[in-house]
Amino acid sequence: MKPWRISIRMVHQRVTIIGSGPAAHTAAIYLARAEVKPTLYEGMFANGIAAGGQLTTTTEIENFPGFPEGLTGSELMDRMKKQSEKFGTEVITETISKVDLSSKPFKFWTEFNEDAEPITTDAIILATGASAKRMNLPGEETYWQQGISACAVCDGAVPIFRNKPLAVIGGGDSACEEADFLTKYGSKVYMLVRKDHLRASTIMQRRAEKNQKIEILYNTVSLEAKGDGKFLNALRIKNVKTNEESDLQVNGLFYAIGHTPATQIVAGQVDLYENGYVKTVPGTSLTSVPGVFAAGDVQDSKYRQAITSAGSGCMAGLDAERYLSELE
Ligand code: FAD
Ligand code: NDP
Repeated sequence: MKPWRISIRMVHQRVTIIGSGPAAHTAAIYLARAEVKPTLYEGMFANGIAAGGQLTTTTEIENFPGFPEGLTGSELMDRMKKQSEKFGTEVITETISKVDLSSKPFKFWTEFNEDAEPITTDAIILATGASAKRMNLPGEETYWQQGISACAVCDGAVPIFRNKPLAVIGGGDSACEEADFLTKYGSKVYMLVRKDHLRASTIMQRRAEKNQKIEILYNTVSLEAKGDGKFLNALRIKNVKTNEESDLQVNGLFYAIGHTPATQIVAGQVDLYENGYVKTVPGTSLTSVPGVFAAGDVQDSKYRQAITSAGSGCMAGLDAERYLSELE
């Protein structure tokens, strides 16, 4: 009798897209239409975010062109996924846990095959996104998206914030920009800064300081988000110089304390900026490793919008297609 033999088939892919937000699906649409048959790993709660990316964590999207009536973030992402699949993208609901970019073809493992033979690929598009840092304040879970948000541009215009006092936590450029933006909607905007100075660039500081609707509270930390069980209506704050605590009446709270790009799997293999974002050659999606492309929030610490992510996903799709045809 012959002994059992397990045959392990090495799987090889031409191009592997990691991620499932607007950048990943736009790259997939371009590559699939070019008949490259991309494989897209959409993740299984990778980085704490559902397949479909950050937009699945919000309600109405009003600034994505082509949808004048608006649509929900999940609906927009379902449509993008349908469009990638329609042209032949294979979507796999697994998280890529490890990549080896040291030789070609590249190798990678998913969380379900960490001990098995790696899958190989000629090109990778990294579109793993980023996530806004959260404070994890008591009450945050209850009022998340019911008064608390991490994106003023995305959520600032919703009716619950109109003509109401709002607060922004942070002292960087994002905090200044978001506070300034929110004055279009709120009756007043408090900036809560934990130190006695802002970190933002001079021009952004001046803009915030000059805006009559912004009040900057220095040396102020936040302790608890409070509300009526449905919507936020106050924030417990403390002055760290005097130790005095008080309730600040606000109906909106916006975190602007930075973002964390999802670059753990390529750290040490692809050049990153000090803040962890992937470095790309300006005007392209090319990273420091030929054959590895980056698109979306993972390489953009500034704009971080669905449309800019989709735009850079298109660039990555076209750059990867060109790379693959040169390989052949
Ligand atoms: P992301 O959307 O960040 O998605 C990346 C995906 O990759 C995630 O699903 C993640 O799980 C997956 N992933 C990560 N690592 C792995 C891995 N190792 N393997 C497999 N999968 C992985 N922008 C707008 O333009 N308009 C808005 O109204 C708007 N509203 C927003 C509201 C909120 C609450 C938030 C948080 C953001 C909002 N944004 C909005 C910003 C927008 O969502 C992002 O700019 C955009 O989603 C970034 O897209 P992306 O393709 O880079 O990746
Ligand atoms: P930054 O990291 O520059 O600033 C984060 C801010 O949040 C800091 O003031 C920090 O305080 C504060 N912070 C962090 N954690 C906490 C916490 N737990 N509690 C309270 N406060 C906290 O992030 P940004 O998003 O502002 O900027 C990121 C990059 O993007 C920067 O390079 C910036 O220049 C750029 N950018 C540029 C813009 C423009 O030019 N228009 C607009 C937006 C961003 P502390 O200072 O005490 O550490």
